[in-house]
Parts: sequence; C-alpha cells; structure tokens
Amino acid sequence: MEKRIWLSPPHMGGTEMTYIQQAFESNWIAPVGTNVTAFEKQIAEFIGFGHVAALSSGTAALHLALVMLGVGKGDVVICQSLTFAASANPVVYQGGIPVFVDSEPHTWNICPDALEQAIKQCFNKGKKPKAIIIVHLYGMPARIGEILALCNYYDIPLIEDAAEALGSEYRGRKAGSFGTFGIFSFNGNKIITTSGGGVLWSADSEVINKAKFLAAQARDPAPHYEHSVIGYNYGLSNVSAGIGRGQMEVLKTRIAQRRAIYDFYQKALQNLPGLSFQNESAECFSNRWLTALSFDFQQSGISPEMLMAELESRNIESRHLWKPMHLQPVFRDALYFGGTVAEQLFQTGICLPSGSSLLPGDLEQVRDAIIEHFT
Ligand SMILES: *Cc1c(COP(=O)(O)O)cnc(C)c1O
Repeated sequence: MEKRIWLSPPHMGGTEMTYIQQAFESNWIAPVGTNVTAFEKQIAEFIGFGHVAALSSGTAALHLALVMLGVGKGDVVICQSLTFAASANPVVYQGGIPVFVDSEPHTWNICPDALEQAIKQCFNKGKKPKAIIIVHLYGMPARIGEILALCNYYDIPLIEDAAEALGSEYRGRKAGSFGTFGIFSFNGNKIITTSGGGVLWSADSEVINKAKFLAAQARDPAPHYEHSVIGYNYGLSNVSAGIGRGQMEVLKTRIAQRRAIYDFYQKALQNLPGLSFQNESAECFSNRWLTALSFDFQQSGISPEMLMAELESRNIESRHLWKPMHLQPVFRDALYFGGTVAEQLFQTGICLPSGSSLLPGDLEQVRDAIIEHFT
C-alpha cells in the first residue's frame, strides 16, 4: 500500500521535546507554568501588539469572548455561515441566537452587504446584535476594512475567528488583531499545533487578565475558594504549551511552506476548465493554511464527490469545504441573510492536501491525480 497523503498533519519543528522535558523536570504538569507564560509572550509578540490568554482550545477562546461581551439568553450574534461549527456553537452555549450571513465570492468570507442587511433586520426587530463573528477561512482574511466600518457605525463588537489564520495579514497587520477579540486554534491540523489548544487575543490587558481568571474557575482573591461569578476550566496545559513554544519557532517557515504549496497547485492547475481559488487581493496576505479550490460543474462536469473519490483511490486525503451553518440540521431554525455563494462553494469545492511536511513528490501525485481526472 502506498503511503497515505494526509490533508494537514502535524509537523514538529524539533525543539518541542526540550520544552516538554523542562515541564517534566520542573514538575509543572499543570495548566500553568513557564511554557504557558513563554508561549503567550511569543504569540503576543508575533501578533505585534496586545495580549493573549493561552486556552485549552479555540472554541474555549470564542466562548470566553462571548461571555465577556455579555452574550446571554436570547441575545443575537451574527456569524459567518461558511465555517466550522465551532464558530457558532459557543453562541448557543450562552443561550444566544446565531444569525447567519452568506460569503462573497472573492475571499469566500462574510459578505459585507449581506452583513449590513442582517444588522438592519436585527435592529428593525428591536434586537441589537451583541457581537459579529467573522472567519478568515483557510487563512484568507475577510474584507476587514468594510466589516470594521459596519461594526463602528452600528457600534457592535467584532470577534475574529482566526483559528485558521495565524500569520495572515490585512494591510500589513495580523488577522485576529482588528476586532474586540481575536481567537486562534492550535488543534492538530492547524498551521501549528499544541495537539489541542487555542488563544484569545485582545488589545486590552485587563480583558485578557479577566479571561485568565474565568479560564481558571473564577477564583476570587481570598484565602479559601471564593466565587462570585461562574468560571470555566479552560487553561492550556504547560506540557502542551511546550509543544507550542517549539512550533512558534518554525511558524514563519510553516507559512512560507504552505504558501509555496498553494503556488504549486495554482500554477499546475490554473488552466483546468472552470477552476478557481480563493483570491488574495493586494491588501491581504494569507497563510494559505489549506489550498481550497472550487470548480464550475457546468464547465468541468466534475463534482467534489467524483474528484474526492479519485484522490481517495490513490490514498490521498481531501475534504469538502465547510458545509454552511444555515444548512446544518442543528441550525435549521436560524435566520440567514444573503444568497447562495456559501452553498455553491460547498457544492463545488474541495480542500487539497496542504501540510507543510508534504514532499515535492507528494504534491506531484496530487497534481497528476487531478489533471488525469479532468482530462
Ligand atoms: C479549528 C477551528 C475552530 C476551533 O478550534 P479548536 O481549537 O479546535 O476548538 C474554530 N473555528 C474555525 C474556523 C476552525 O477552523
């Protein structure tokens, strides 16, 4: 059996074990310790300004952002529809009501026009949205300028789900650092990993201190265990943070590798009929976490299922684009604004193997499989 070509496997940098060993030697096998502190500092420095709390997952980071924005029962939160369910689930954890918005075809991220319609409609019903969650899908920054203008005009806090976009930039500034909150994920398949983990970013150090307080069971300063608010067990393990420290040392290389993989596919496949990729406009820089493509069925006569089956027959993993949230059974009653951009992307797109450890020969195998299938 040929070796399997995975979509986005973990890729260690080499120094991770050193930091894990330090955790063991100091016996800080706990959700606090020098690895956690150092990892937080590395990320804050990488983003360029602001503060971060290391947490057990990106989902936990989103949840805490909503908690701190005061999202509660019956509150409306607007969310990009084309995304992973983890973007929207924390709204429901809080008893809030997600309202979903379509994508635009350029970045595949939230459509500013449909977003404004959603905001207006919420106001018309007497429900000012408590937050707007946008996503930088597969690393591609959304139309942040237009979205921020809407957030400012309507006075609604922005949460950037940058789980897939660590290192991506918009107008020279890191994605995830434009909103009231940004969140990043270090799950096993992300551009760098701690096996599982995430961070919450904010420009405000007090807000991040509050996040750390909430993430450690909200213990009031008292000699005994005193609690005046509900807390969570959302800290990141000091062992996992050791992996993160090693991974941060190679993050820039990983971004360059992922971008090179995108360039390879783009050059090799651009002439196939009806094929398109996420567009990186002049103001954007994508970490190209995953190379995703969509194909016009009319022109190509090929569906994602057909191509994915072909790749699978050659032991190559690929994946559908995210199924939009407004089409998910669990969100069937949610309001939705926009057209069919997200739905069509779901019906016509796939993610290709994009891991930074892929070898040139692996990429050539994927390329050949696709080209042979199209011709
Ligand atoms: C991975 C991911 C998350 C969740 O992050 P976890 O660390 O797995 O909880 C949230 N949103 C998006 C878009 C993601 O890709």
